[in-house]
Amino acid sequence: MKVIEHLTRRTEPLFSYEIVPPPRGRTVQDVIDMVSLLKPLNPPWIDVTAHASEAYYHEKDDGSIERKIYKKRPGTIGICGIIQNRFGIDTVAHLLSLGFTKEETEDALIELNYLGIQNILALRGDGPNYKKVVSKDRSMNHHADELVSQIVDMNNGKFLEDISDCQPFNFCIGVAGYPEKHFEAPNLKIDILNLKKKVDAGADYIATQMFFDNQKYFDFVDECRSNGITVPIIPGIKILKSESQLTNLPKNFYINLPDELVENIHKNPTHAREIGKQWAEKQVIELLEHNVPCVHFYIMNDTHSVVDIVKKCQKL
Ligand code: FAD
Repeated sequence: MKVIEHLTRRTEPLFSYEIVPPPRGRTVQDVIDMVSLLKPLNPPWIDVTAHASEAYYHEKDDGSIERKIYKKRPGTIGICGIIQNRFGIDTVAHLLSLGFTKEETEDALIELNYLGIQNILALRGDGPNYKKVVSKDRSMNHHADELVSQIVDMNNGKFLEDISDCQPFNFCIGVAGYPEKHFEAPNLKIDILNLKKKVDAGADYIATQMFFDNQKYFDFVDECRSNGITVPIIPGIKILKSESQLTNLPKNFYINLPDELVENIHKNPTHAREIGKQWAEKQVIELLEHNVPCVHFYIMNDTHSVVDIVKKCQKL
């Protein structure tokens, strides 16, 4: 079922989860174990992140340095297929525009459609240390709104090449939103205008970046609404578990952490997991009181605290 259908048919609060494919060298058993723990919580859907190729440097025996380009975490499509078909839980496959040609994107969407996956989170991704070389006969989407347009075209039966007799797809499309603005945007207003381009291109819903101060989310939703964005905006929550995350999360995700949370963890670093859990629980309760459509957890493969929080909040 589509995310948007889950949202409109819901009779109780929804809690969804985002997982990351295991790194190279690990097996899908990691995912199976994690989803087995989430399954009793009745997830409406699980997101599976996507990862572009990056350049890595490897020192050979003769001392020379070799540059290798590969994906550290391949397998988004396969993992979505396993979760959906083995556990009967809907999945949202993340798709990136950077690092993929439109032709590769079309093939990925065809595969997802074969597997019965109906939901895509359309993202630009980041251009880290490797830029894909694109041959002249290939084209790329740049910003996420272009990727949304490509998916909408396929939903209308329009493929890159004119293929007679092709079936239109029926993907539900989500896009990313940033309550504290995207790091490249000069200000929140411009970022929201760019977000509107994604919605105008055909996005059905917005999933937000993690935030630790609910007021940031409430203000963001108000700002989106006053700019004519009417689609559901799903809040993203991350449960802190260690003192090192106080510097890592702001650095990697360009978000702020409230003073109170930072001070509490600095005072009691050995209790970081418990403090993070209590903070997230407070956030979730307040979001539910504001009738959010769903709470989305960035579990990043740590199911520890989320299971306790959701079990408690499902009873509210
Ligand atoms: P865009 O919407 O293209 O925006 C990027 C920047 O460009 C913004 O500053 C925006 O204001 C601006 N912009 C947007 N459209 C235009 C336009 N038409 N013209 C000019 N400027 C424009 N990354 C991964 O690699 N894998 C994942 O699985 C993943 N999942 C994510 C899930 C969520 C919910 C979120 C919030 C982020 C996720 N990311 C993921 C991170 C994301 O890829 C990065 O934040 C990336 O830098 C921006 O992606 P975007 O889709 O928001 O890009």
